[in-house]
Amino acid sequence: DKGYRVCLVEGREHLGGRLCAPAFDGGPPVDAVPPILWGGHQETRTLFTLLGSQQRVHFPHSLHHTFALPAGRVVALPRLWGPASVRGPATIAGFSGISMRDRMRLMNVLERFWEQDLSLPTDLDERPVTELFDLTSQSESAVRQVWTPLSRFLLGDDPSKVSAALGAGSLRALLFGSRRNNAIGLLTGGMAETLLHPAEAHLRRSGADIRLGKPATRLLTQKDQVMGVTLQGGEPLSADWYLAALGPDALAALLPDRWLAKYASFQSLTEWDWSPRVTLRLESRGKGTKPWLRLLATGSYDWAVGIGGGKTQWPTMEIWLIAAGQSALLKRSDADLREAAVKDLQGLVPSCQPDHIQQHRVFRSERATPALRPGTRRLRATPQSPVANLFVAGAWTDTGLPASVESAVLSGRRCAEAVEEVHSSRVDKAPGAH
Ligand SMILES: Cc1cc2nc3c(=O)[nH]c(=O)nc-3n(C[C@H](O)[C@H](O)[C@H](O)COP(=O)(O)OP(=O)(O)OC[C@H]3O[C@@H](n4cnc5c(N)ncnc54)[C@H](O)[C@@H]3O)c2cc1C
Repeated sequence: DKGYRVCLVEGREHLGGRLCAPAFDGGPPVDAVPPILWGGHQETRTLFTLLGSQQRVHFPHSLHHTFALPAGRVVALPRLWGPASVRGPATIAGFSGISMRDRMRLMNVLERFWEQDLSLPTDLDERPVTELFDLTSQSESAVRQVWTPLSRFLLGDDPSKVSAALGAGSLRALLFGSRRNNAIGLLTGGMAETLLHPAEAHLRRSGADIRLGKPATRLLTQKDQVMGVTLQGGEPLSADWYLAALGPDALAALLPDRWLAKYASFQSLTEWDWSPRVTLRLESRGKGTKPWLRLLATGSYDWAVGIGGGKTQWPTMEIWLIAAGQSALLKRSDADLREAAVKDLQGLVPSCQPDHIQQHRVFRSERATPALRPGTRRLRATPQSPVANLFVAGAWTDTGLPASVESAVLSGRRCAEAVEEVHSSRVDKAPGAH
């Protein structure tokens, strides 16, 4: 849109990265993520507007952070209006998913944070989220039934493995963010129709040259500059600016050894660990329901989303169950995972009986998201790499967000702005510029 000529190189045969997976029947790729837009995803919403797909996003009242607790209790996080300073404490006070004692303890510590109590830890990035639970003296049941599934939902991993700074940031956004910002969106047509196809169409309309099925194999470099990139099959490409939107390991594989040895930020690309995820998508003949989201206090999965069926625009009921950060589930067979899903849904979706399930698909990934462990903030790359004409984007880069779609979109915008900034400063310095 700013007049640059863009060539986009994708190693796979289709765009969409981890958001989609190959179809079993050889058809177009299918979504590997549920058709929802998590609360707080403002960058992604802005992108939908730019792509003209915002009308595909709805914010049903029934789709909300709701906990399925033992003994069939279902408790939603209150959704309140009003200024953040009132809304945050009122949300905690009104949330009956944890005991009044747990709520009071949580509020006491929040108050101490506001008052900048010097005895509170300042190095949250070096500590795991579980230390926040200790700090706020949460009971064992609150941790197990509420904070653990919520952490896995917001952060994509077990709270013992994610940095407390990231956990505190996500919780703050959830409790203190505006009601509008925290609304969870339902994507008609899923990520494919809302994001991927419109983005590809937009790029093609803008004249972008899209090379699919052509992984980059090597960066051609000279001193501290990228001179070109070689694609599989040997084809070289050259440009003024290079934007790498790859995982950290894939980027490290393209860099020359001398850069990996010379620059700390390139060296750290090899230090990343990954969080696993199992996603199960079920199609059921059950009665139609309003869309729902449940964070699961017990069972194998951490959270589940259900949409459609009956007379809604979805002909069958679609249920997605997600387990984040649980490596043990990766080894279980599809049939086993389906059985575990039916068990988790018992009591939650009475119409989801085993004989109602028409189809299911398991998406297993040992390396679903880069693990944002305590102390990994320093590994997250800034858009401008140490090499002047190489920029870095991706969900794992330094956005301050969990490694999500939102983080990937935000990093892309920041990267484009960084190129624009460097380009404008060069134009300003060019002979004859005013
Ligand atoms: C099963 C699963 C479920 C998930 N669910 C959710 C969810 O519900 N919500 C959410 O927000 N996030 C979810 N995520 C995470 C989300 O998919 C990622 O955060 C997001 O896709 C990251 O985007 P990215 O552009 O940083 O990286 P990627 O999506 O990994 O994209 C990188 C791209 O680079 C390409 N590539 C790699 N090497 C090369 C090369 N040498 N040459 C050319 N191309 C190359 C890859 O093929 C890929 O297309 C899920 C992930 C998985 C695996």
